[in-house]
Amino acid sequence: MREDGVHSLGDSGEYIWILTCVRCGRFEVNGFALAHYENRSSYGLNRNRYLLSGRARNATLDGRNLRSNDEDFDAAEQGKIPEKTVEEKIHLMLGWVVRSSTKVGQQLTPDS
Ligand SMILES: [Zn+2]
Repeated sequence: MREDGVHSLGDSGEYIWILTCVRCGRFEVNGFALAHYENRSSYGLNRNRYLLSGRARNATLDGRNLRSNDEDFDAAEQGKIPEKTVEEKIHLMLGWVVRSSTKVGQQLTPDS
């Protein structure tokens, strides 16, 4: 999930890591959550990590700023982050097509 990062201070003075990942995009994690994430490996977190990754990727594609905290990692670990419904997945896929398509008839691939 993590490739590189710089830190800054959040509104309440906490350390915020601004991370960039080729798969997840750009996202922020507060310092406590990042420390827990890096020092905690569990079956639940490893199994559900893709949900946090997807959340970060979708926020990046939508131009939103996503900041994850301890509760997000706890929710992932405990399987409390719901999977997208088929309808939500369709909307995400159509949004990708709209963002990626620049001219009529253009063939799109996941790398385009
Ligand atoms: Zn990643």
